[in-house]
Amino acid sequence: MKTATGFTLISNGQLFDGTGTPLVPNAALVIENGHIRYAGPAAGAPAVPPDARRIDARGGTIMPGLIEAHFHATYFNVEKLEDLDIKYPVEYVSLQAGVNCRLALECGYTSARSGGCLFNCDVWLKTAIENDLIPGPRLATSGREICSAGGLMDWNPEFRKIGMDGLVFCINGVEDARKAVRALVKDGVEWVKTYPTGDAAWPDQNDHHTLCMTFDEMYAVVATAHNHKLKVTGHCRATEGIKNALRAGYDAVEHATFIDDEGLDLLLKRDVPVVPGLYFEQASVVRGKEFNLPQRVIDGHQETLEGGAASYRRIIKAGGRLGMGGDYGFGWNPHGDYAKELSFFVSYVGLDPLTVLKCATKTGAEILGRSHEIGTLELGKLADVLVVEGDPVKNISLLEDRKNILAVLQGGVLKAGKLAPRTEVPMPKIRE
Ligand SMILES: [Zn+2]
Repeated sequence: MKTATGFTLISNGQLFDGTGTPLVPNAALVIENGHIRYAGPAAGAPAVPPDARRIDARGGTIMPGLIEAHFHATYFNVEKLEDLDIKYPVEYVSLQAGVNCRLALECGYTSARSGGCLFNCDVWLKTAIENDLIPGPRLATSGREICSAGGLMDWNPEFRKIGMDGLVFCINGVEDARKAVRALVKDGVEWVKTYPTGDAAWPDQNDHHTLCMTFDEMYAVVATAHNHKLKVTGHCRATEGIKNALRAGYDAVEHATFIDDEGLDLLLKRDVPVVPGLYFEQASVVRGKEFNLPQRVIDGHQETLEGGAASYRRIIKAGGRLGMGGDYGFGWNPHGDYAKELSFFVSYVGLDPLTVLKCATKTGAEILGRSHEIGTLELGKLADVLVVEGDPVKNISLLEDRKNILAVLQGGVLKAGKLAPRTEVPMPKIRE
């Protein structure tokens, strides 16, 4: 991805730098050749040459670009779970995913870490984004996901004879686990996404208290992935599944919904980050009926919502780390709504806005393994910057509305926002 050349001065706003230091009123950010040269009070800013680009923050807020820590580029606002797998050919899925990537950037998300994708789209999306062919967040790639046969993701009935080949390796035992990871190694992904547990989406056989992989399978995934320098994460709702993941050496845990004291200890011991994706549960409860979700499924989401919120309060209180990512890409939880996760963590979970913003920036960069480059506005880092009207610390929900986004910069290049030269893409249609 190209970085800007020359100087840019962003001024007339307060600064949230993501490091945990207090907000700086009347601040300035100076960018030189795509990197941060200065972030602090305007009075202390170095002089910039007369030809420097200038961005007026209009009394709003200058902050690091947001980081979506659980992004499904290829989920295109599907209404039925089976549509997550092969509904369209890879050619069309790639185009849809490109639209989602552009939308994420326009929503202020300068980076994203994938939570799994159809085919091997992530790797090629990343290539296209890094080569400036299409706009999108800097991507940490995942690929096809791994789940045991008969588990949560193995939902296509046998008589359809189509397996789950687009999205999931349905494995039986450790040999299959290794084989799947080895295929992902060849695909070139960075993260291996697994399904240690079920979900409210499938009551009875694979509900949110059910295990969908054995410890041995999970351990085989981790050993093979780590050998090839890949990281591993997993969809973990059930208490034992969370602990299995932590004991197997997972590098992150998605959801960690029903974590117990022992799980929390294991989590803190290795400082493993958790990505909740909690607003998805709220959206499933509030909009489930509209999308014909059975009441039992909605009830399961309600239990997941309450259990998750309690767990995230405990994790933060105990000094653990949360990344903000939202499983967007379902009809009831569409792409573009990413920042609803942030508002929800303030309004429902009860975290303070500064903590949530830090989760959505600094912690996100840590999860991507790129905290030396992005996630905070500090000297020498890449200038991935978001400039918004208003004060998201006072009203975090203003991040939900693209009308409030003045500027989105990656490496100092102005890519989106009201001050960018390009027009915005409309929200994708939810219903076809
Ligand atoms: Zn997901």
